[in-house]
Amino acid sequence: MSTGSISRTPICKLNDRELPYLYIKRDDLIPYCFGGNKARKAQLFFEEIDNGDYDTVVTYGSSHSNHCRIVANMAAARNMDCILISPTEVSDNTYNSIMMDLFGAKLITVPVNEVHDTIENTIAKLKDKGHKPYFIPGGGHGNIGTRAYVQCFDEILDYEKENDIKFDYIFFASGTGTTHAGLVCGQLIHKTCHNIIGISIARKNPRGRDVVLESIYDYLNESKISYDPEDVQNKTVFIDDYTGDGYGADSEMISQIIQKSLISYGVALDSTYTGKAFSGMLDYVKKNKLENKRILFIHTGGTPLFFDDLNKWRRK
Ligand SMILES: *Cc1c(COP(=O)(O)O)cnc(C)c1O
Repeated sequence: MSTGSISRTPICKLNDRELPYLYIKRDDLIPYCFGGNKARKAQLFFEEIDNGDYDTVVTYGSSHSNHCRIVANMAAARNMDCILISPTEVSDNTYNSIMMDLFGAKLITVPVNEVHDTIENTIAKLKDKGHKPYFIPGGGHGNIGTRAYVQCFDEILDYEKENDIKFDYIFFASGTGTTHAGLVCGQLIHKTCHNIIGISIARKNPRGRDVVLESIYDYLNESKISYDPEDVQNKTVFIDDYTGDGYGADSEMISQIIQKSLISYGVALDSTYTGKAFSGMLDYVKKNKLENKRILFIHTGGTPLFFDDLNKWRRK
């Protein structure tokens, strides 16, 4: 069964008193298993899987992983085996991990420093037994993941043309880097002058930004697109001021932003990704006096994580 191709996700204006030109692109509404950027990426990985004779999908992620939830669903829908390699350090129960179980994914939990070898051994063993495994890097990393967000950037340009608007700034949560890389590659391909600002949810500079740059160069080289390295450097803005404790941080301020977003816009954010990025964006806008700029926030999904947060606020 095919998941079908993703039609363009909506861009909506948020009614915000302080930010009159704040828009949101709802990638959380991609119509597959609570959507999100991992659904946009996995869709392309599964196009490749469907064109091969693979019988098992292997990937990596924690019990909180939106990527693992989506991949496990897409594999289950095809009656394919799915093996998730997962770090012991983040293995508590979440709505995502409950769904991974429901999809029948096989979980291999090992300490994070054994993940690399476990992936290699698992794939080697499967091949020995005559299986045809397909490996998807954690978070949907790699050129396929980057391509998904080049396509998202194309959607943004289409929206701008049709609605006679130009966004000055594009903000989003930057994690493993290909969402960020895809948007910057889209910009380099179309030579636009948007300010693309990735708000890091965990990694610090310079490593966090270097990983994004690596993904950009990989994609441009593979696609044989010529570039000016200085231009690439200038366009890759990775802000690491809002990481808090990294994955799973839950500061009081982020909780408040999540509640405000739900109340004021009816939009659910989570404390690991979109809540952190949205709250970082608001602070960045204030500090740089961008209140009257045209701003687009990309909602990268993670709705099941919103419900994990909501559970913590349950009345005792
Ligand atoms: C994974 C994820 C991100 C980060 O995307 P990357 O491409 O890994 O940088 C942002 N938001 C949500 C909800 C995610 O699940």
